[in-house]
Amino acid sequence: MQRVYLDNAATTQIRNEVVQAMISTLSVFVGNPSSMHLFGREARSLIEESRISVARKLNALPSEIIFTSGGTEANNLILRSAVRDLNINRIITSPLEHKSVLETVLDMARRGWVTVELVRLKEKGVIDLEDLDEKLQNSSVSTLVSLMYANNEVGNLLDVDGFGTICKKHGACFHSDTVQAIGHYSMDMSRLPFHFASASAHKFHGPTGMGFAFIRKATGLMPIITGGYQERSMRAGTENTCGIVGLAKALELTYLHLDEDRKRIEELKSYCISSLRQSVPGVFFNGLSDDISRSLYTILSVSLPVKDDLLGFELDLKGIAVSQGSACGSGSGNSSYVVEAVCDPVQMENTTPLRISFGVFNQKEDVDALVSALKVLMDQKKKS
Ligand code: PLP
Repeated sequence: MQRVYLDNAATTQIRNEVVQAMISTLSVFVGNPSSMHLFGREARSLIEESRISVARKLNALPSEIIFTSGGTEANNLILRSAVRDLNINRIITSPLEHKSVLETVLDMARRGWVTVELVRLKEKGVIDLEDLDEKLQNSSVSTLVSLMYANNEVGNLLDVDGFGTICKKHGACFHSDTVQAIGHYSMDMSRLPFHFASASAHKFHGPTGMGFAFIRKATGLMPIITGGYQERSMRAGTENTCGIVGLAKALELTYLHLDEDRKRIEELKSYCISSLRQSVPGVFFNGLSDDISRSLYTILSVSLPVKDDLLGFELDLKGIAVSQGSACGSGSGNSSYVVEAVCDPVQMENTTPLRISFGVFNQKEDVDALVSALKVLMDQKKKS
């Protein structure tokens, strides 16, 4: 059976060179990076070289990179510490955020630590800057704004510069979940307007279970996981040397090939849009997904003109992996709150959303296989 993987926003295939770098770290015994002897010092230097390499790619300071177990932990570290250590008592965020942000702020709201406000969305899930500005006006409480760089379900690129200007004007702290952007866009942390950001290695062809928090110098965050003094006392626990080496290698390679990969994947996405339009009448795209310059080149969120919760499963039976959220307002357990937030409920009636997401290993043939499978499935459903 053919195997087509178009779910790169969920996770990406690790690059061979990354596997090799990780194997060399595992196969030569290195000690505990906190030990003072040679074995320990060897591990320490692998970690610190990796940190320097990551920082260089992002024009950050090495001390601003704190390795974590992934994007979820990085978001938790930033949000929970900001509330506890920076005396934040209000968080403004949006309905587009990943659960690692939304559930974390809601948890803190349930405990009475913060109030949470959701910024208003305009058409296609665009954040209303005026609403953000109004919410921040005349406020006597210290506020953290948490708004992502790019959305993981519909692919909208958000106006982080606009958010940054407004946050600065009102003296608010700004966190951006950059998990779907780091490794896909060049990022200059010295110029970007946020205080805090997060990244996850498995989104850029690195290992799962590895990520980092970007914590701008002198912002005053404190650890959430306490114990030893690892990660400059920001995250206790013996470091995952091999994972850190893998993350740094993956980031190095992703930025080395960025321009050519981006061009090729962007063309693949455009090709997928036109093939779907041609072969599946009635198809439409969610949020800003089909606007190439305003959405991630890696994500295409499509709505198909049938209501079928098993569509993703039927594609899976044909060897094609994509991600499925249920149609707007379906009320089913797996409905996508992001698609619901950005879509027009009337337009979404009797449709099924699918997220198609691309990575460096995808080829035109993968898109052809998906589109022809969808065409067959749509024809069958129309007849039945
Ligand atoms: N934030 C966004 C936008 C994501 O897409 C994801 C993963 O899908 C995460 C956070 C969580 O990252 P991790 O899987 O590394 O915990």
